[in-house]
Amino acid sequence: MNEKRARAWTKAVDFHGHSCPGLAIGVRIALDYLEDLKIERAGDEELAAVAETDACAVDGLQAILGCTAGKGNLWLRRRGKQVFSIYQRASGRGRRYCWQGDGRGELSREERTELYLKAPGENLYRVSEARWPLPPEASVLKSRPCQICGELTAEPGLRLREGQVICLDCYGLPLDLSRRIVL
Ligand SMILES: [Zn+2]
Ligand SMILES: [Zn+2]
Repeated sequence: MNEKRARAWTKAVDFHGHSCPGLAIGVRIALDYLEDLKIERAGDEELAAVAETDACAVDGLQAILGCTAGKGNLWLRRRGKQVFSIYQRASGRGRRYCWQGDGRGELSREERTELYLKAPGENLYRVSEARWPLPPEASVLKSRPCQICGELTAEPGLRLREGQVICLDCYGLPLDLSRRIVL
């Protein structure tokens, strides 16, 4: 690992909270993508990413690519796969990285992390064209107060019932925290 990559790894560990093989997956893919395209991380929405997992690797993508949940250029499509599609908005093109890295079994967590950061890319993942078109840019949503609880709510979170505009909680939508993010 060169110095730039080592620094990026430290930054990602700091963001994620611990060093782990899952984080290494996201960091490795993000760094290889940026290096292959000779580009820098996204300050704004230059890049977009779709992750098919919501595990540790997603934090590697957020830290390194600048595709983050809050900025609206990260999509979580929960499929339980270590698959990541990364798009460049300027070209509209995307690449799909499908992680293959085995290395389980006799390797320790630390050894796996090391392997994922340092082994040749072709031993770790497969790359192909993205399967779907570039996702749309984030839009700024209008908010208005719920007419029952008064809490300011963005429009997609509002429903109309008997002439009143109300939030999903007051509408009585059941809360299911067992599913974190569903697309
Ligand atoms: Zn982790
Ligand atoms: Zn309400």
